[in-house]
Amino acid sequence: MKIAVLPGDGIGPEIVAEAVKVLRALELPLEMEEAPVGGAAYEASGHPLPPSTLALAKNADAVLFGAVGDWKYDKLERALRPEQAILGLRKELGLFANFRPAVCYKELTHASSLKPELVAGLDILIIRELTGDIYFGQPRGRRTAVDGHFPGSEEAFDTMRYSKPEIERIAHVAFQAARQRSKRVTSVDKANVLETFQFWKDVVTEVHAQYPDVELDHMYVDNAAMQLVKAPKRFDVVVTGNMFGDILSDEAAMLTGSIGMLPSASLNARNQGLYEPSHGSAPDIAGQGVANPLATILSAAMMLRYSLQRPDAADRIESAVGAVLAAGLRTPDIWSEGATKVGTRAMGDAVVEAITGKTITIKTKKS
Ligand code: NAD
Repeated sequence: MKIAVLPGDGIGPEIVAEAVKVLRALELPLEMEEAPVGGAAYEASGHPLPPSTLALAKNADAVLFGAVGDWKYDKLERALRPEQAILGLRKELGLFANFRPAVCYKELTHASSLKPELVAGLDILIIRELTGDIYFGQPRGRRTAVDGHFPGSEEAFDTMRYSKPEIERIAHVAFQAARQRSKRVTSVDKANVLETFQFWKDVVTEVHAQYPDVELDHMYVDNAAMQLVKAPKRFDVVVTGNMFGDILSDEAAMLTGSIGMLPSASLNARNQGLYEPSHGSAPDIAGQGVANPLATILSAAMMLRYSLQRPDAADRIESAVGAVLAAGLRTPDIWSEGATKVGTRAMGDAVVEAITGKTITIKTKKS
């Protein structure tokens, strides 16, 4: 199993080192190779996604990604900015399914802005279609209006569109993911107003016929936004389009209150995936050894589950993270009175200890 390790910028190298350490502790036949990406790659070779990094990612079964970006690159032309590396990887690897779990560990319920009883034990998975919808639909642009409320005035427009195969493939992904969980899918649409989403609903319903063991319900996006803050535990797997998914996945993620705890994955049709924490490169705390590595460690668990077909190993990591939290260890972002404050490395070490039952020293591979 080949893993391309792309630490990136800011806290990226610190948190990825901990995830690599945890992966090595599992003693699986994993081949990990590291390459620069984002600002680090721009500094080294003048491009945020150099051909050698892209080739490494393409030839791997999965990519473990840290984070990219720093305000110092804000003045660079858009194509050379660190964030372009993520867009380039998504496009080149054909990543169309974005997985964003929102899990609220019982020890961290106080971090949520919702009442503890609403979020305690929360475990939902938002699956967002990543390559279609109004974000990429053509035509788009600006023009002079020929009709509408103000003919002759300047206007802007985008096109919302989904083809049948695009909806079918994301629906299959959602039903298959639900089979690994509690076998319930909620498809979110706006079928009452939008033709595109009536079609979405029809196609998801059609695909569902192949998954009689999975329960499907449909919900309008406005209601879904409301239910996520009213009764989030009613959801298990939520599948939706690019724009609704963009908004709902951030809303769901924030229910847990701790950005340093949130993993994510983007997969293609061959289950090859890019795994990264939901947060950015946090330049404000980079190099201080205080970043929370758990989102990246949990991303590595997702990688084992979805790309490397080792759900047993994913379970081991997730249980170890639960054990470390239960033992009261907290990085500063999730710390509260009575808990033990630890840094990035100590948190990674504690997860390794929870996995192996012994303290070990591991060197990460440098390119
Ligand atoms: P950010 O997520 O990097 O940071 C937001 C806040 O959360 C900061 O206060 C930061 O210290 C904190 N934080 C984030 N991750 C943390 C962790 N693991 N542990 C503890 N605290 C953590 O978002 P930002 O500040 O808006 O963006 C900083 C840079 O990251 C920008 O250049 C942005 O473009 C980039 N970015 C990259 C990605 C990515 O690589 N996928 C995603 C979002 C933002």
